[in-house]
Amino acid sequence: MAHIPRVTLVHLTRQKWGVLVASILRQLFPLVILAACAAAQAPADQIPGQESHLKEAGSSVVLEHSTFAHGYRHGYEAGYHIGNTDINMGRPLREKLSGLHDLKTGYLSQFGSHSVFDKGFQAGLKAGYSDGYLGRNFRAVDTMRALAGSLQQSSFPADPRHSHFDAGFLAGYNDGYERGGSDDSSAAPMDFHFVSCARFNPARQTDETAGASYCEGYRRGFVLGHGDAFALRPGTARMEASK
Ligand SMILES: [Zn+2]
Repeated sequence: MAHIPRVTLVHLTRQKWGVLVASILRQLFPLVILAACAAAQAPADQIPGQESHLKEAGSSVVLEHSTFAHGYRHGYEAGYHIGNTDINMGRPLREKLSGLHDLKTGYLSQFGSHSVFDKGFQAGLKAGYSDGYLGRNFRAVDTMRALAGSLQQSSFPADPRHSHFDAGFLAGYNDGYERGGSDDSSAAPMDFHFVSCARFNPARQTDETAGASYCEGYRRGFVLGHGDAFALRPGTARMEASK
């Protein structure tokens, strides 16, 4: 007699399990159909994982044109988060971010040159860390939007892969950073339209359109670098930290 209830119990459990599975499948069925439709519509070259910057309204066009700017965007985000965490945990301001080298940059090969992306990442990391630590606004998206101005309409057939634009952006960032750190720089946000660009010296006349693309990048990079250097000046940071 003792074995009969056990068999009954197993039998009932199996029955219940079956009912439960059927019920779950019925509820999930519309979701499965929706997911299948979404997958069918997704473009084949869709970027996997967490990458969403290339779809960010208003700013993505700059990131598409410049690998450096895209790396900057990733670094800024990481730096801002670390700076924010440090201040909230009562940790001292990190003078150097060299201890953070094991950070994941989020680089994917379709973004462009790895080394240029990393340069942008380091620049953004520094700027973002400072902003996060000092409780400033997360400004990377707005800054990129301001730099995007009229870029969508710009067309440079001589620079189809935007490599001149990106080279200009990097050179402009470095020059702007140098200028922003000097004593005669102004806190007022710069308008990239008024940055002069004399660095591109085309070797041949046919390179002139490539030069125009380079300068479009240069002006925008200059404004970003100038703003960062100003924000990172020791005096500015100290003043805000003591508020
Ligand atoms: Zn990204």
